[in-house]
Amino acid sequence: NLYGTERQNSRGLDLSDAPKLVDLGSKMKAFAVTGWSGGPIIGGLEVPGDKQTVTSPSDRGIKVGEMAWASRDQAEQAVARADRAWWGWNKTPAAKRAECLERMADLMEENTPELMVLCMCEAGKTTADAIAEVREAVDFCRYYAVRCRRDFGDAMVMPGPTGERNELSLQGRGVFLCISPWNFPLAIFLGQVSAALAAGNAVIAKPAEQTGLVAAAAIKLFHRAGVPGDVLHLLPGDGPTVAGPLLSDERIKGVAFTGSTETAKLIQRALAARDGEIVPLIAETGGQNAMIVDSTALPEQVVRDVLASSFQSAGQRCSALRVLFLQADVADKVLTMLGGAMDELTIGDSADLATDVGPVIDEDAQAMLTAHIERMRKEAKVIRDLPLPASTEKGTFVAPAAFEIAGLHVLQKEVFGPVLHVIRFKASELDSIIDQINNSGFGLTLGIHSRIDETVNYICQRVRVGNAYVNRNQIGAIVGVQPFGGTGLSGTGPKAGGPRYLHRFATEYAVSIDT
Ligand code: GLU
Repeated sequence: NLYGTERQNSRGLDLSDAPKLVDLGSKMKAFAVTGWSGGPIIGGLEVPGDKQTVTSPSDRGIKVGEMAWASRDQAEQAVARADRAWWGWNKTPAAKRAECLERMADLMEENTPELMVLCMCEAGKTTADAIAEVREAVDFCRYYAVRCRRDFGDAMVMPGPTGERNELSLQGRGVFLCISPWNFPLAIFLGQVSAALAAGNAVIAKPAEQTGLVAAAAIKLFHRAGVPGDVLHLLPGDGPTVAGPLLSDERIKGVAFTGSTETAKLIQRALAARDGEIVPLIAETGGQNAMIVDSTALPEQVVRDVLASSFQSAGQRCSALRVLFLQADVADKVLTMLGGAMDELTIGDSADLATDVGPVIDEDAQAMLTAHIERMRKEAKVIRDLPLPASTEKGTFVAPAAFEIAGLHVLQKEVFGPVLHVIRFKASELDSIIDQINNSGFGLTLGIHSRIDETVNYICQRVRVGNAYVNRNQIGAIVGVQPFGGTGLSGTGPKAGGPRYLHRFATEYAVSIDT
């Protein structure tokens, strides 16, 4: 098979397979969109906390449930227990840890309808995105299980030229703090947690404020899968209150973070300000992702891939396309087609199967995006500025928009939503575009559309990004196939879903035995 003999990526669901879709729909109907609850999970038990009302991004009138946030005392209990438990977990054979991850993958597959409902009503995921979300989480667990067995099993025997026996092994670091974002409330959340666990660490999981219910459901499954309660704790709450104090806690031996570059720097400063050990930060942050389209590209393919890259998931992916560089000779044609294709996008409730673009996560995101769009209306040329349907007025929606801008300097910050910016270029300006992209400092994804191999190779060689995609869209990296992660302002470089990811969560231990 395509993925090696040890495992296969999960198959997901083909949305054109009507009988399977109907079956999934009826299973999902068994779960109401209201009445959910969750809270901190310490030592395997859910404990009470400060209750927050969770409403749906598609309709703020729908109360999805209640999520309790953790207190400082609970955080202290969780760290103390994790600190006592991590050594035993680290000494648990890698094969046993891997089995827990595989059982977790099985449990998630069994509970797909419930997890999808949660992702849709708490995070505003569309059906297609919710399916992909569960798949990716399952794939992370199975992939890291394989890597755990392979790299954390038997120690590597090194040469012993003087007759010594020399062994090298990978070990956990201690208690890892995993801080995850709302845009992949299950996949990124579990990607971090499963990697940290596979590498032999105990974990304090701090999910995004907006998506605690999904996280709580996932942690309960992980405990059912066999991870001891004291090895994995959930501390929901707001970042500064819950995670902030932990950054200066000497018992936290590493932090995995996905989110904004600004927050990653705050975390890095807090870790560096400690008196004690130097601990690693694994950060995956934002991007100012570009696509370069030259005059040899196929316009239909470009339009299809721009649409997916910019507007799928309402543009709320780190990988999403923000700046389309179009060669001037083909720009008018491509933009006319793109505008027409954007007119066909269906904006609406994430639960509706016909929806292409669901809500953005919350009012803050909506306000930031709306202000940006208003600025673009004044300062840039409008390519498309879609109206919001009346049906969306109770939710936090932002309609897809595309603007032609004068240069990359116009964008000071990552615009995390369904807004595309277009810049025309002449063939002679290719080097200057590459310089602009590199000088932005970000380096996450890059799309290239060209039929000329030399052009593709030239751009790939010169650009500094983590993931380059040629003649296709630039989102939806697949576990074990397109290891994902950026460089520069976009992250510290580890590749989630890649063969070396677990090593970032580990230390190495060498033992030399003389005869
Ligand atoms: N891995 C996701 C993708 O390839 C993006 C992850 C993120 O948004 O942080 O689209």
